[in-house]
Amino acid sequence: MSKAKHYDVLIVGGGLAGLGIAAGLADLPVRVGLIEAGALGADWPALGEGVSDYDPRVSALTAASQQWLAALGVWEAIAGTRLCSYTDMQVWDAEGTGEVHFQAGDVNADSLGHIVENRLIIAALAERVAEAANIYCLEHSPVAHMSYAGGAATLELEGGKRLEADLLIAADGANSRIRQWAGFKTREWDYGQQAIVTTVKMTESHACTAWQRFLPQGPLAFLPLAASDAPDRYCSIVWSADVNYGAELMALDDAAFGEALASAFEHRLGSVEAISRRFSFPLRQRHAVDYIKPGMALIGDAAHSIHPLAGQGINLGFKDVAVLQDEIRRALDKGLPLGSEAVLGRYQRRRKGDNLSMMAAMDGFKRLFAQQALPVRWLRNTGMRWVNEIGPVKRQLIRRAMGLG
Ligand SMILES: Cc1cc2nc3c(=O)[nH]c(=O)nc-3n(C[C@H](O)[C@H](O)[C@H](O)COP(=O)(O)OP(=O)(O)OC[C@H]3O[C@@H](n4cnc5c(N)ncnc54)[C@H](O)[C@@H]3O)c2cc1C
Repeated sequence: MSKAKHYDVLIVGGGLAGLGIAAGLADLPVRVGLIEAGALGADWPALGEGVSDYDPRVSALTAASQQWLAALGVWEAIAGTRLCSYTDMQVWDAEGTGEVHFQAGDVNADSLGHIVENRLIIAALAERVAEAANIYCLEHSPVAHMSYAGGAATLELEGGKRLEADLLIAADGANSRIRQWAGFKTREWDYGQQAIVTTVKMTESHACTAWQRFLPQGPLAFLPLAASDAPDRYCSIVWSADVNYGAELMALDDAAFGEALASAFEHRLGSVEAISRRFSFPLRQRHAVDYIKPGMALIGDAAHSIHPLAGQGINLGFKDVAVLQDEIRRALDKGLPLGSEAVLGRYQRRRKGDNLSMMAAMDGFKRLFAQQALPVRWLRNTGMRWVNEIGPVKRQLIRRAMGLG
């Protein structure tokens, strides 16, 4: 058997979290290996202007994520492409009159966040990683097997190459094989829902507002996209629906789906003029009981996956990345072993509580809005009106949604 190649840090997964931590370690005195099963997405995509020219996966990046990307030096590249800065957030209940309207002006900010296509964030991070002399990228290299004993992991890639590291970072997504091979325990449950995503062009302006309507079968979000040919009319849709209803929606032709969509949204943005291909994702909440083992750390969706209703998934992932980056720098300054409990324990303590409280809040929202009982409907509608009217409560919620609270 060939000798395993050694790195200081190995990252498995070149999605947003994996590329994020790699970019965060660029030019530090560590030898980093980044392993991705597919392509790393380093090429900047051409930005056409039809509904099918948008990435169906977009992220609502909070101010906290924006600040971190700016500190990495990649925000400017993203901002130079295509993004929509949203100034308002409008949330309402399909079963009543409760409505909350958040405005950037409420907290003296210029925007509440930015809607960005995932492929653009990926291209900017991959560009930063490619420039770094200390990072070695292995694309099209799925990890086929891992052995883990005594705090040391050895990875075997498809094709037989073997790798090991002082610190292994699992950024291989919600179904992380690394997490499973290492025997991390998780708490998880199926929401019994799927999220349908697509891009639409509406007949009316999105008004730079992130819209969300809570329907009995699940929340429906219209996220505003930037465009130059039809300003303010392109939106990314995330429609979370119970599995059976979701399957019915997926089976509709485009015209019928467009009508169902506009009607479920009370025609607030008019009707659907054009629609791209639909994709659906099963929704499952999952949280690793621990994020660390000796020599190993989980980040991003490998550590936690959350209902997309508040668009917090990768924002939490980027917070993990920022903290782990900080702890690795600190360990290098102090000469501590990167895979030690002294280093990784601090990462886990700083991130787990924050992730847990956001996941609990999203789960609570999801369950609260699924309730049909009259007293619960009355309570949540009254609650929404109350939140909308009480300034300090509203401002605190806005700051939390911006990742600053
Ligand atoms: C419908 C929907 C809408 C969402 N909207 C938002 C939003 O508005 N805002 C937000 O913050 N979040 C949102 N999210 C969540 C967000 O998309 C995820 O949190 C984020 O993509 C997770 O990034 P990640 O890098 O942790 O994992 P992933 O993006 O899953 O990346 C994992 C990477 O690991 C690679 N990999 C897997 N296995 C292996 C292996 N064995 N060997 C090598 N490589 C491997 C994969 O190829 C992949 O590139 C949404 C999610 C969904 C489903």
